Amino acid sequence: MKAVLIRGHGGPERVEVGELPLPEPGPGEVRVRVRAAALNHLDLWVRKGWSGLMLSFPHVLGSDVAGVVDAVGPGVDEPKVGAEVVLAPGLSCGRCVRCRSGEENLCRGYAILGEHVSGGQAEAVVVPARNALPLPPNLSFEEAAAVPLTFLTAWHALVARARVRPGETVLVHAAGSGVGVAAVQIAKLHGARVIATAGSDAKLERARALGADEVVNYEAKDFVQEVKRLTQRRGVDVVFEHVGRKTWEGSILACAPGGRIVTVGATTGYDPPTDLRHVFYRQLSILGSTMGTSGELLEVLRFVGEGRLRPVVDRVLPLARVREAQALLADRAQFGKIVLTP
Ligand SMILES: [Zn+2]
Repeated sequence: MKAVLIRGHGGPERVEVGELPLPEPGPGEVRVRVRAAALNHLDLWVRKGWSGLMLSFPHVLGSDVAGVVDAVGPGVDEPKVGAEVVLAPGLSCGRCVRCRSGEENLCRGYAILGEHVSGGQAEAVVVPARNALPLPPNLSFEEAAAVPLTFLTAWHALVARARVRPGETVLVHAAGSGVGVAAVQIAKLHGARVIATAGSDAKLERARALGADEVVNYEAKDFVQEVKRLTQRRGVDVVFEHVGRKTWEGSILACAPGGRIVTVGATTGYDPPTDLRHVFYRQLSILGSTMGTSGELLEVLRFVGEGRLRPVVDRVLPLARVREAQALLADRAQFGKIVLTP
């Protein structure tokens, strides 16, 4: 089968479309014929690598997959061959206290498809049967592949960690990114007022169409000053942080007293300074969040099926153009998700 793979870490030239043997499902597993697989910033991090990430090469990229089950391993009743599915990207032991409490993203063995294990930007992928969830109705494979990682991340961060409530104000950075698109909609779904930032007026217009109440062009204006102006100097209740170094100090200053910052990533750098005086004096909460539970993903998929959360597909490209797709993502040239089709 064809697959987007790396044989070692490094720059864009490390990514290739190669041939791998078709994987066979073992006990409790299913094989999915991939119809669509989305990109994430995670793909770029995995390509570059970091100390502690131990992969066996060749490693296939890709965390977000939709397709059709075409083989099942021993002991699998559901899903059946022919079922249309979208994959939950989280893998966990299923036996520890965290897993049995429905908190599998806190499992010590937690892994993400395409990060710690080979992923689904390929013609086929094998996963545990419980990771194959029914495709929501009225959704194309491309739209379904645009949902899991980003919507799950934003849902867990805003709903489970920051506990956003009706009437609160939420600042969403980089609303044109995959997680930004999801966070704007999830905050609105929970009754919040959303202030969204983006780097171009075209993106801000699209953020408004997704439900953002106020928009700020961070290239043209200081977002902290704009947040103060839009909140009568009070600040926001929740900041959805995934940018890191470039926005972190401003995120702290943009918080109202008692505000919460939930951080899910750091695309511009993970080691910004933090002025602790602002954190303790204004009694801020800094919350970390990674991925979410499969229960939360089912909830997200229900809202997607009802049309109350909308996946946003920027463009669909063939697998062979993955380098171009990664370059677009690295340059933030997209709005929403870039999806590959085998
Ligand atoms: Zn576990």
